[in-house]
Amino acid sequence: MALIDSHCHLNYEYEGKTAADLVREAGLAGVDTLIAIATDVPTLPEVVAISEAFPNVFHTAGIHPHEAAAATDEHLVELLGFTQHPKCKAVGEIGLDFYYNLSSQEIQIQRFGQLLDLAREVKLPVVIHCRDAEKQMLSQLQTYCHGLSADAVPGVIHCFTGSLEFGKACLDLGFYISFSGILTFKTAESLREAARAFPLDRLLVETDSPYLAPVPFRGRKCEPSMVVSTARRLAEIKGLPVDEVFEALRRNTVTCFGLDSATAVKT
Ligand SMILES: [Zn+2]
Repeated sequence: MALIDSHCHLNYEYEGKTAADLVREAGLAGVDTLIAIATDVPTLPEVVAISEAFPNVFHTAGIHPHEAAAATDEHLVELLGFTQHPKCKAVGEIGLDFYYNLSSQEIQIQRFGQLLDLAREVKLPVVIHCRDAEKQMLSQLQTYCHGLSADAVPGVIHCFTGSLEFGKACLDLGFYISFSGILTFKTAESLREAARAFPLDRLLVETDSPYLAPVPFRGRKCEPSMVVSTARRLAEIKGLPVDEVFEALRRNTVTCFGLDSATAVKT
């Protein structure tokens, strides 16, 4: 069963490798579908171009919290247009980062609220980035979920590194939770504890490439093909057969992003 890398940045620099190289090498490793994540409006055309070039790449449209201060109201209008693309499957990544605070917290909170409203309006799930901001995040996610229809998928908490309580609260709201290569890091025992506690039918995996290469690739630039290591580690943590876990991860990702099962799911 092939895997989906639910979160990678294909328009970033990969030491000479092109997006075509990354997509091909992912396929060879058993990763046949990729979701290319956007982080701001000025570079969104690059992400869309990659998505359009490969039938098995989909994309998102969003403004990362780091970019919240640089973003303009005009960008929000443009973003709305970008969400109408048939291969745009989510609004993201969006969220709050009170660790780096590259944009002020006030501006992050305001932009995040606007982007959640936009996602609800266009009926797309959200890809959430959250660092050191669990309390504020939960309050904004609760407001967002309140306005969703009962059958809507709210989205995914990407690169989960939060507390067990935060994760459970997000699951209660209907969110999926995605683990990156951090799950394989020696020091990440509390994260593995969370992975054991969360139900398999709500989990995704991702690389967040070019960042966070999983064991045994640490120190190298992360690439979508490496998501296999994270998924295998998750199967170990869950004490379940690899096939069963890979199948669940694929099904969850297809459901979360509303991927066309005819194109995304091959057996
Ligand atoms: Zn990312």
